[in-house]
Amino acid sequence: MKSALLNNYSRYNVEFVEGKGAYLFDSEGNSYLDFLSGIAVTGFGHQHTEITQAADEQLKKLWHVSNLFEASPQEELAKKLTKVTGLESVFFCNSGTEANEAAIKFARKWGGERKNIIAANGGFHGRTMGSLSATGQTKLWDGFTPMLPGFSFVDFNDIEQIVNSIDKTTCAIMVEPIQGESGVIVPDENYLIELRKICDENDLLMILDEVQTGIGRTGKLFAHQWYGIKPDILTSAKGIANGLPLGAVICSDKISDVIKPGDHGSTFGGNPVAIAAANKVIELLDQDFLLGITHNGLKVQEAIRSIDSTLIKNIRGKGLMIGIELAETMAKKIAVELLNRNVVVGNSGESVIRLLPPFIITEHEINEFIKIFKSVVAKFSFSKQTSDIVTIK
Ligand code: PLP
Repeated sequence: MKSALLNNYSRYNVEFVEGKGAYLFDSEGNSYLDFLSGIAVTGFGHQHTEITQAADEQLKKLWHVSNLFEASPQEELAKKLTKVTGLESVFFCNSGTEANEAAIKFARKWGGERKNIIAANGGFHGRTMGSLSATGQTKLWDGFTPMLPGFSFVDFNDIEQIVNSIDKTTCAIMVEPIQGESGVIVPDENYLIELRKICDENDLLMILDEVQTGIGRTGKLFAHQWYGIKPDILTSAKGIANGLPLGAVICSDKISDVIKPGDHGSTFGGNPVAIAAANKVIELLDQDFLLGITHNGLKVQEAIRSIDSTLIKNIRGKGLMIGIELAETMAKKIAVELLNRNVVVGNSGESVIRLLPPFIITEHEINEFIKIFKSVVAKFSFSKQTSDIVTIK
């Protein structure tokens, strides 16, 4: 039967109807180990007792009133986010792309005559026109041009190119601390530190898109905290409410000073139910919990490294944001084979397998994943060897 849904996604032929912890269940009751977390969203897994309870209590009290009125749960979450980041104020929206749209607007308002933003090739900031214009992947622009003016692009992890691109029109530099959608590209240890220095020396805003790297994913609440620096604008979404739609733009006093009532807004932004879930998420992400994420990430990486296969070219990432670069363009094939064996993973393009397991993953679940992944890699390594032999013949 022809689908009534717009054909903008290429979907796997599986439907999940329930989730519990690190497992998803299809309509026939088959369980799948979830090593994708809805693309870095459900960090606390499915049906987390305390988060579900927090959202449920709010759901039964009040769904929506609009941002025309006081909102103390928003205030509470904003206080938590500013406290942990050392920034000053927060704007709430509903998604990553909206958070980045707001960040772009705020930077332009702050910049005055200076409107231009330097972003990175391979970066991903979302699908709406502003965020897409900041996204350095021209293949995603196809059919949607003209893009918004005021963006220039440099190679990720190349400080010299940034220095050479700054001119009197530049107001900000906008990057992800680790490029997620491009295949978990981790920059040099001093990249963000150097970027901070350049922004300070040139009076530019440093905008960090932590939509994917944030909320504990890398083992710190936000990935930039690994480097002892602070951005001027920080965008967050995905895992912030463990699956309910919420985005946040966390701003320094530079932005608080220029944004006035009427400059920006959102009907649904900071919805009470999503905020209730997020207040619980932030409370749960304490120091010990974050250490657990780092520990689990190292365990997963080590176990993959111990797999003896020429198919695995490189393993990279931080915490539970892990990319496995393959020597062959068969990432999608491997993801499909894993799904056939009841394991959910992601892929970035054709050569990177993406692992974004929930933070609550247990040792047993990690071992289960490794066992299945190993056998899939062996199957494909073997079929490759066989086809090589055939070619030689
Ligand atoms: N920024 C980054 C770094 C992302 O990874 C994504 C989504 O993958 C976005 C922005 C867009 O977020 P959303 O899909 O919630 O609009």
